Amino acid sequence: MAAVKFSAMPAGIAVRTSYARIGARRVALATNAFPSLLRRHRPYTVPVYDYALMTEPLTDEQLASVGWRNRQGFADSANQFHYVRLSADNRILWGGYDVVHHYRGRVRAEHDQRPATFVTLARHFFRTFPQLEGVRFGHAWGGAIDTCTRFSAFFDLSHDGRVAYAAGYTGLGVGATRFGAEVMLDLLEGARTERTALEMVRRKPTPFPPEPLRSVGIGITQWSLARADGHAGRRNLWLRTLDRLGLGFDS
Ligand SMILES: Cc1cc2nc3c(=O)[nH]c(=O)nc-3n(C[C@H](O)[C@H](O)[C@H](O)COP(=O)(O)OP(=O)(O)OC[C@H]3O[C@@H](n4cnc5c(N)ncnc54)[C@H](O)[C@@H]3O)c2cc1C
Repeated sequence: MAAVKFSAMPAGIAVRTSYARIGARRVALATNAFPSLLRRHRPYTVPVYDYALMTEPLTDEQLASVGWRNRQGFADSANQFHYVRLSADNRILWGGYDVVHHYRGRVRAEHDQRPATFVTLARHFFRTFPQLEGVRFGHAWGGAIDTCTRFSAFFDLSHDGRVAYAAGYTGLGVGATRFGAEVMLDLLEGARTERTALEMVRRKPTPFPPEPLRSVGIGITQWSLARADGHAGRRNLWLRTLDRLGLGFDS
């Protein structure tokens, strides 16, 4: 049931959905990479697509050949990094590397599949685990993540404190959304807590510029990050400038 609009009522908020109009005393908005119902928040996030592969369950021999004894999750430390997990039924989840932005930040179901990225991920997988040659991938998928310029969640209130908002997890929301929900509840209660005193709660990130500048900036940044990965991590002038401005991973 998509919510499409808010308006203030004397005792709360009216939310218009595709089916009905609902009244609520308070509203917590957690729409991730989807367009925010608060238009003024839209420049703070850009949806970019991230992709993952999942192998079929490994046999005991295959698992032993990797030497993965304690089931740790891990990632590599490149700018374009891979993240890796072992599932309960011994499949390897292998994701990351490519980050795909579509002009004007379009979120569409057809973007969830990207064969070119799956081929790249598979190539990197077999380079990392040559002993698993012949293993097949049972699943391949992707989705949009809500990137913001400081790569960590931000928060706000609107409608006289009756609507709270949390977004900008930048692909790291599985654990952090619980914290984000608690911050929103504090904000909606008007409570002053350890959480609401944090600078990351009080300050919002720098918004993205409008298109076409946005796409150009993202394109230059992605090119620069890939170049840094190919040159022992050396950051070019563009990335050093973003670092100085507090934009990106070093913010
Ligand atoms: C391929 C991939 C791999 C990832 N890997 C990791 C990882 O390893 N670790 C990690 O921490 N995070 C990872 N993430 C990111 C993580 O999934 C998200 O940060 C997290 O799910 C965000 O949770 P959320 O509750 O904010 O948003 P979501 O789980 O996206 O929920 C938002 C909900 O809001 C609904 N919605 C949006 N707009 C409206 C509207 N107008 N009306 C009604 N409903 C609406 C949507 O339908 C959706 O159900 C990954 C993401 C992707 C795509």
